[in-house]
This record gives sequence, C-alpha cells and structure tokens, in this order.
Amino acid sequence: MGCVRYLLTVVALLCINSLLQAQQWAIVLHGGAGNMKKEYFRQEQIDEYEKALSAALEVGAKILTEGGSSLNAVEHVVRYLEDCPLFNAGKGAVFTHDGKNELDAAIMDGRTLAAGAIACVGDIKNPITAARMVMQKSVHVMMVGKGASDFARAQGVEIVDSSYFFTQSRWDDLQKYLSKEKMGTVGCVARDIHGNLAAATSTGGMTDKRYNRVGDAPIIGAGTYANNATCAVSATGHGEFFIRYTVAHDISALMEYKGLSLVDAANLVINSKLEKVDGRGGVIAVDKDGNICMDMNTSGMFRAFKKSTGESGVFIFR
Ligand code: ASP
Repeated sequence: MGCVRYLLTVVALLCINSLLQAQQWAIVLHGGAGNMKKEYFRQEQIDEYEKALSAALEVGAKILTEGGSSLNAVEHVVRYLEDCPLFNAGKGAVFTHDGKNELDAAIMDGRTLAAGAIACVGDIKNPITAARMVMQKSVHVMMVGKGASDFARAQGVEIVDSSYFFTQSRWDDLQKYLSKEKMGTVGCVARDIHGNLAAATSTGGMTDKRYNRVGDAPIIGAGTYANNATCAVSATGHGEFFIRYTVAHDISALMEYKGLSLVDAANLVINSKLEKVDGRGGVIAVDKDGNICMDMNTSGMFRAFKKSTGESGVFIFR
C-alpha cells in the first residue's frame, strides 16, 4: 500500500513539474550586432545601452508574465526599440546613400506560420506594427514602398513626416563615412506560457545602402522566422549573407530535419556556414521548450534575455 502511495506521489509531482514547465515563458531581444569592442565605448554609453535594453526587456516580460501572447510581446518590445534613437530601427534608422531613411520589418507567428513584412518605407513611425497589420489585415505577406505606407495609413498605423527619422549621429555617420559600423537592427523572439513562439525584426538597414535595397530583416526565413515545432529566430548582420544562406529558416530546418538542439543549430549556421564566407552578424532565438540562444560571429551584439524562472541578463560584448 505504502509503495503504491509513494508511486502515486511521484507521478503527481512529475505531472505538476511538467505542467509548470509547459507554462514557462522566455524572451530574448537584440539591438544589432557588429564590431563592438569595449574600448570603443565610454562607460556612460554602455550604461545608456544597457538601460534601454533592460527597459525593452521589461515591456515584453510584463506581457508574458500576465499570460499575454508571444506575438504581442515581440511587437511591443520592437516598438519600444524602434522609438529609441540608440538603435538602427524606427527613430534611430541609418541613412541610405541618398540621405533618406528606408525601413524594413517583419513579424511571424509560430503557431500558425502567418507572417507579415514591409520594406522600403520612410514614413511609418513603427514599421513592426505595419508588418503585423500586413499579417493580420491583408492576404499578403510582404508589402513595400508607397503601397505599404498607404496600406498602413488605412489601417490606422501612425504615419510621420520623413524628418522624424533624422538623428544627427546617423547623419554624421553617413557624411563622414567615419563609422566602420554600418550595421544594426532590433529584434525580439519569445515563447509564451501557451507554448507559442513569435519573432519580430525591424531595421533601418545598412548605412550608405542604395535606395530601395532590401535586407534580410523583412524576408521570412532569412532575418525572421518562427515555427512552434522548432524555434523563433531574429537575425542581425550583413543582410545579403543572411538572405543567401536563409539563416533563420536554416536554424529551424537543422532542428527539424537533423534533430539538432537550438544552440547547436545556431552555432553551425553562424560560426561555421556564415563564418566561412565572412558573413558577419548574429541571431537571437528561443525554442519550443523555452531554451534560448544568442550567438554571433562579431565582437559584439546588443542583447538581453529573461525567463519566467527568474534568469535574466543584458550583454553587449562577446
Ligand atoms: N540585417 C540588416 C540589413 O542587412 C542590418 C543589420 O542587422 O545590421 O538590413
């Protein structure tokens, strides 16, 4: 009798444990990867970046703690980062060769594989919200340029004058060509308590890019991908490489077809496949069990993560 009771207790504990595990959430964000050595930064700058990354993380953590969806969490985190002039997305977008701002963004729902993206827009305050509108309110996946702006306006997304995106530091980067750092992007991935994954990425692209050039961020499978069966990924780096190597989907495919763990899949793609061809950048990712990964082949990547277990961290350098 005692033995049966003992076994029943063990089974009950195991059930509770797996139930609790299933209800766990995790969130990871990035604010761009690149050549970021500690000696290039003043301490005040490091503090400022870390503060912004932590604040963005809290936006998503609050949504997930309250049982909100991963889709809402990634959209709102990316909106926060888009409004912050420190990062190359939204307000802080870099300039094209012609001195304009052209923004790209994408969002993907791992539960349904629904996705929305916009590219080459210069008047949408929060491109990630416009991307979500394309996903939810149109029959398309990607819209670009004027068509994307007109569609976003019709959906009530906030439109701004293109001068909104002017920031002196990005302008100086273009004018002086001083900045060796031509990259930067923001992104977020999350797993909610229901086990749903989502990914969002938003960028001004690369400094000095040709007008109407589109990077990897809005291309589903390149810079952004989410699939409940495997993982959610948001990338940052030299977009042309991430497009050719379909980085985000490749990580998912290695998990799906080869049974690799998230960390091994990301490591193979970033530190082997891309490294071999000098494709610079990094990814953040979360898998269906809430394991996270932040990997890069650059000297730094603005990044942060938090889990319902209480673990969290904010990092800049490798
Ligand atoms: N991947 C972005 C692009 O190529 C830039 C970046 O992430 O730094 O547009």
